[in-house]
Amino acid sequence: MTDDARSVLVTGGNRGIGLAIAQAMSLQGARGCIFDRRNVAVACIAPEGFATSAVDVTSEAEIAARFAELKAIHGRLDIVVANAGIVPPWRMPDAIDLDEWNRVFAVNVTGVAATIKHAVPLMKARGGSIVITASINALRAPERQMAYTASKTALIGLMRTAALDLGQYGIRVNAVAPGAVMTEALRRRIADRASAGGADWEAVEADLKARAPLGEIASEADIANAAVFLASDWSRRITGHVLPVDAGLGIA
Ligand code: NDP
Repeated sequence: MTDDARSVLVTGGNRGIGLAIAQAMSLQGARGCIFDRRNVAVACIAPEGFATSAVDVTSEAEIAARFAELKAIHGRLDIVVANAGIVPPWRMPDAIDLDEWNRVFAVNVTGVAATIKHAVPLMKARGGSIVITASINALRAPERQMAYTASKTALIGLMRTAALDLGQYGIRVNAVAPGAVMTEALRRRIADRASAGGADWEAVEADLKARAPLGEIASEADIANAAVFLASDWSRRITGHVLPVDAGLGIA
């Protein structure tokens, strides 16, 4: 990926897709930091060359303080993966909870905007790559997920405008759009839905695989590979785009 050790920040990197991305970047020789809501040194084994820092991306004060530390340690940032995100429970449109709606937007949209705001000053001098974790749900209409879908769709517009504005600094901005990835978090959500009468996760996974053209669903590592590509010089003329990694579910 790199000609020298690139400096990376991954938000929401304590587990799931974010951790897989940090691990994949570490294997490519990158060094950096994970920002996550909790400092879970016990639960999370940070990849080689990565430090972890407790940052709630909904708090601009926390983000600003941690970026100042990051600047002091690394001096610059080459790659930012804005991955932290939350998924609310299923709700019909007439049952949405506006406090929950605002919380989803605070993390999934405002958190990404704040991350980019504070990252750009550390990237401007050398350029770099920002990768946003969107969702295949930004490209299609999943049922009972109005808040989540709206938040991930907003990220696509945010990403395109940021790509337009930051190209002059050699900063590329793209999004990866995962299909369903059976992270612990998704399994837990499926279990919650199952207790309310939905299918269990094995049945959900089997159904997704049956519908996907490739007969499989993407893994955390598949998303990480796409993020590494978008962060690397292999994609140096790609900016303002969404890369679905969904085994073809989005076209099925
Ligand atoms: P996880 O819940 O496993 O990981 C998300 C991480 O983000 C957690 O460590 C979580 O911390 C952290 N986080 C949540 N809120 C904040 C916050 N306010 N500030 C800082 N960190 C925070 O999720 P996944 O790995 O499954 O998903 C990662 C991303 O991928 C999300 O943006 C999600 O929307 C997206 N995605 C996931 C798909 C899937 O099927 N899994 C499909 C499409 C997109 P904590 O544990 O403390 O809550």
